[in-house]
Amino acid sequence: MIHANEDYLKLPGSYLFSTIAKKVAAFSEKNPDKKIIRLGIGDVTQPLCPAVIEAIHKATDEMADAATFRGYAPDLGYAFLRDTIAEKVFRPLGTDITADEIFISDGAKSDSANIQEIFTHDTKVAVCDPVYPVYVDTNVMAGRTGTYDEATGTWSNVIYMPCTAANGYSPELPGEVPDLIYLCFPNNPTGATISRAQLQEWVDYANKNHAVIVYDAAYEAYISEEGIPHSIFECEGARTCAIELRSFSKNAGFTGTRLGYTVIPKDLVDADGVSLHALWARRHGTKFNGAPYIIQRAGEAVYSEEGQRQTREQIAYYMNNAKTIKEGLADAGYTVSGGVNAPYIWLKTPDGMSSWDFFDYLLEKANVVGTPGSGFGASGEGYFRLTAFGSYENSVEAMKRIKAL
Ligand SMILES: *Cc1c(COP(=O)(O)O)cnc(C)c1O
Repeated sequence: MIHANEDYLKLPGSYLFSTIAKKVAAFSEKNPDKKIIRLGIGDVTQPLCPAVIEAIHKATDEMADAATFRGYAPDLGYAFLRDTIAEKVFRPLGTDITADEIFISDGAKSDSANIQEIFTHDTKVAVCDPVYPVYVDTNVMAGRTGTYDEATGTWSNVIYMPCTAANGYSPELPGEVPDLIYLCFPNNPTGATISRAQLQEWVDYANKNHAVIVYDAAYEAYISEEGIPHSIFECEGARTCAIELRSFSKNAGFTGTRLGYTVIPKDLVDADGVSLHALWARRHGTKFNGAPYIIQRAGEAVYSEEGQRQTREQIAYYMNNAKTIKEGLADAGYTVSGGVNAPYIWLKTPDGMSSWDFFDYLLEKANVVGTPGSGFGASGEGYFRLTAFGSYENSVEAMKRIKAL
């Protein structure tokens, strides 16, 4: 007799963005004449830049010719892309990450979801609160999070590290020592960053306790200020405690194209000396058959001179939206943060409204869709996330509507 995995059945409700999509669909069905502005889901809207499109066309033509046709890609990624990343991303940061420490994948969501598989069932996990839902949910699916408390929306066997206005949305070192620590900076959802000195404290803490940090750097391209690390490998000692997740989704608009990578240094070992690099290579080789050749060529083109210039223009476009939204909300009297080194603006709901009440209020009164902060964790209650990924016109219009409320 077949039985569904009981750990999967522990997941509460539906995925946050499915709930939002359902609410928005119901609203538009009832109000077909209302023009809804979507600043909810963290998805890009700008088309792929010309350098990337050109690389896709060229690679597609190669696939049409028997002499240059490619079948299965190497499961860890093509050398042309891994070499380019090592040289164009990690060397300029002063790190010594090499091409063979880079694992190409179809994106950071799946890597952030799958990475926990290489650790034991009793691995104690620590996450920021609020947090990108994938980290916790995949540990729930793996059966290591204990019991769920409906009232607080927390799991008994997870260490939550509150990121609040009081600590500048930067987590404090936990009292109870975790084995696996998920950090994401610039942060989704708060848009906050941490300084290199603060990240160094985490690296020292992880090394001291033989813990591993999974560092999600999906938004590093949005960093505009000095002194903020683009990679955890800028910190001394990170090679023995850190895994970094990277994505082409937010820095080059590949959300529908799919490409990412994970960096696991060869020096990274577990408490018994087992190489995590070798283990992930084994896992990747067994469960993943490589990102498409055409898309890896597209990823390579992001690092060409043209590709860099064009993708930086797109990021500047989104960050101008972020500025528009942040200033608009501040003018309207909201307490806001983020939006300077990240495409997310984090606002406090007015008059102590709950996050979901504010979601409904904004949808009904301004026809603007955002994301309730409570969907990202207990400490997100009373907060709300807007994204800068819409068009400039819509960002301006959304602020006009919010100011008029
Ligand atoms: C968007 C995002 C990613 C990237 O996901 P992809 O699968 O590469 O599209 C990773 N982490 C966070 C926190 C994100 O918001």
